[in-house]
Amino acid sequence: MVYIFITSLIYLITIACIYFSKKRINNVDNKLYSIIIVLNIIGVIIDISQYYLIIFNASDHIIHFVSRLFLIYILTWTSAYCLYVLSIRRNNDQLLHKNKTSILLFITYIFFFFLLIFLPLNYNVNIKGQMYTYGPAINTTYFIVTYYIYLMFVSIFIALKYNKKDKNKYFPVFVFLIAGGISTFLQDINPYLLLTSPVEAFITVLTYFFIENPDMQMIKQLENANIQAEKANRAKSDFLSSMSHEIRTPLNAIIGFSEAIKNDNTVEECHNDANDIIMAGQNLLEIINGILDISKIEAEKMEIVNVNYNLKKTCENLAKLVKPRIGEKPIELKVNIAEDIPDILYGDMAKVKEVIKNILTNAVKYTEKGTIEFKASCINQKDVSTIFISVTDTGRGIKEENIKKLFTKFQRLDEDRNTTIEGTGLGLAITKSLVEMMGGKIIVQSEYGKGSKFSVYLKQKIVKMVSEEESIKQVEEKLDFTGKKVLLVDDNNLNLKVAARLLKEYNLEPELIDSGFACLEKIQEGNRYDLILLDDMMPKMSGVETFKKLKEINGFNIPVVILTANAIAGMKEKYLEEGFNDYLAKPIDKVELKRVLNNYLNK
Ligand code: ADP
Repeated sequence: MVYIFITSLIYLITIACIYFSKKRINNVDNKLYSIIIVLNIIGVIIDISQYYLIIFNASDHIIHFVSRLFLIYILTWTSAYCLYVLSIRRNNDQLLHKNKTSILLFITYIFFFFLLIFLPLNYNVNIKGQMYTYGPAINTTYFIVTYYIYLMFVSIFIALKYNKKDKNKYFPVFVFLIAGGISTFLQDINPYLLLTSPVEAFITVLTYFFIENPDMQMIKQLENANIQAEKANRAKSDFLSSMSHEIRTPLNAIIGFSEAIKNDNTVEECHNDANDIIMAGQNLLEIINGILDISKIEAEKMEIVNVNYNLKKTCENLAKLVKPRIGEKPIELKVNIAEDIPDILYGDMAKVKEVIKNILTNAVKYTEKGTIEFKASCINQKDVSTIFISVTDTGRGIKEENIKKLFTKFQRLDEDRNTTIEGTGLGLAITKSLVEMMGGKIIVQSEYGKGSKFSVYLKQKIVKMVSEEESIKQVEEKLDFTGKKVLLVDDNNLNLKVAARLLKEYNLEPELIDSGFACLEKIQEGNRYDLILLDDMMPKMSGVETFKKLKEINGFNIPVVILTANAIAGMKEKYLEEGFNDYLAKPIDKVELKRVLNNYLNK
């Protein structure tokens, strides 16, 4: 018998040497397996010492002690193996930290541990010097092993029901179930056959080859990493191809209609084509802003910029803005803005606008006919107003199983029906993040084929319940800056032309120059201007560098507004820190331009 023990020991030590000498992944499975090997070696050593203690006629007490130690070993090894099987089944590291099962196993272990220490245990030695143990402690040990085997069996049975691919992984466990049964049966016939620790050694070795071999685990991890990398790569390619399609569509319209304007015969035709160009340009800008926004949100660089604003006006303007998007579709747009919404609220107007615009444009995009109802109402309490905004449409609706995916970036639903509707799948992901950043909530209710309702709840500070109409009138007033001198600096000829064209509406005739050097020259020559609009990204000398040199010129006090297409978060603050008077993002927004001109030329 002792030869079986010694052979088991040699096998176990060899496996332990290979296992511990190899680089392993540091996870729960591996830690448990390390414990299993070490325990198994201890178990076989106890078995061998038991054999020699009998041969050398050791005292009754020592043999009793070692026999009990062996029972504790069986309990510990089986619990560890059971925990290990549960762990590989779950395939994650949470088992030891979170799972109730592990706590239950631990309590069971402690309970049996004390039982095995105190229950009576007898042993018998025959004339050949072979021994076997019996009594309540042994019966309890049989019970424990059967209990754990049952647990493992149920656990694997459930796991295989859901994932048949992992069959191989459980082979050693099946062998354990069969070998455990056979050895118990054999031991029942011949109690002198001590097979427990050799069977366990066999299972430990088998487990190494089937599951725990670090090479296999590393290969598996590499394969997983490879699959992840391929997935990421595919997502990037899909994104690029869908982006290039999304960007080319409005560009195609811009180029096409611009060509058409050249051949237009009437002013009306020209006007219509120009409107289409504006719409396409706005689409393009939305796509680019969407990508910028999502990257800002992901980099956690999106900041809340609170200002005083008029929500009622904002909602009315947004409704006006989406109306042209309905086009020829037989849709009635109902706008219902509650009168009791305070005139001036304090909050992030730009984000509120973006949120409403996104859900409104979606309703227009995904509705073919019927009605779109845009509602804004509020509950005012002291100095806080809880705003409720909802957009209800009679459009295509969203399937219940898709509602969860709605706010995932780049996720467009019903792709086959979307081919003619522009979109990137970013809108709702951005909307949800913005609403949550402002401490609000967005809720979707929808019935597929019937329509959807998007509701947003937001809390905003009340600044004024009713405001004087003057401030609003002033913005709508036509501005005239005849005689004012503006210097426009940009290396790009097209940009110069666009800005000059926009300034013309205010009766301004800006002087156009294409570099920082030329700008410095103009000032050094003693030319006077009321305002300088300076592009930042210019070759050789940037706007910021030009500005630094301008400030060194004696007596320079002309307001300088930086123009930039770099609209990522924090840029505005960076430019203002540099000392620029103001900041205008390209493409230049008419309202922003009006604000800037009003600020610096109206003095
Ligand atoms: P995009 O409109 O750019 O595709 P969004 O993130 O705004 O991206 O919307 C994601 C998807 O949700 C859309 O592709 C569309 O399938 C669905 N969806 C959004 N709003 C509505 C709506 N009002 N009715 C039906 N489907 C909608």
